[in-house]
Amino acid sequence: MSNCIFCKIVAGDIPASKVYEDDHLLAFHDIAPKADTHLLVIPKAHIENLNDLTPAHSELMGHLLVTLPRIAGAQGLKGFRTITNTGVEGGQEVFHIHFHILGGADLPGF
Ligand code: AMP
Repeated sequence: MSNCIFCKIVAGDIPASKVYEDDHLLAFHDIAPKADTHLLVIPKAHIENLNDLTPAHSELMGHLLVTLPRIAGAQGLKGFRTITNTGVEGGQEVFHIHFHILGGADLPGF
């Protein structure tokens, strides 16, 4: 998607502080961190949000879910919070599905 900021990161058109990449996934530091460690994990394929998932995405999203804790662990996190905002009403600002990983000291209660 030409006007999607995360697609531009996948394409290498804008920089990101990448911490993990494979054929299907990318993880990078959030540009405005809300915790000591704040990462975003995305599929490289453009999917707007959870509402747009179909059974055809099962393998990809399974891969993301299995890989996500390994990405967090590689950053030294033994525990972490995962958030996915869905839709405007869910607080989503970037419409390329992403999973926030928040961790480190002083993580506020939820
Ligand atoms: P959300 O509200 O769930 O859509 O969150 C979008 C997140 O993307 C926010 O936490 C932003 O700080 C983050 N973000 C936006 N642009 C960039 C960027 N170029 N690189 C890294 N993170 C970004």
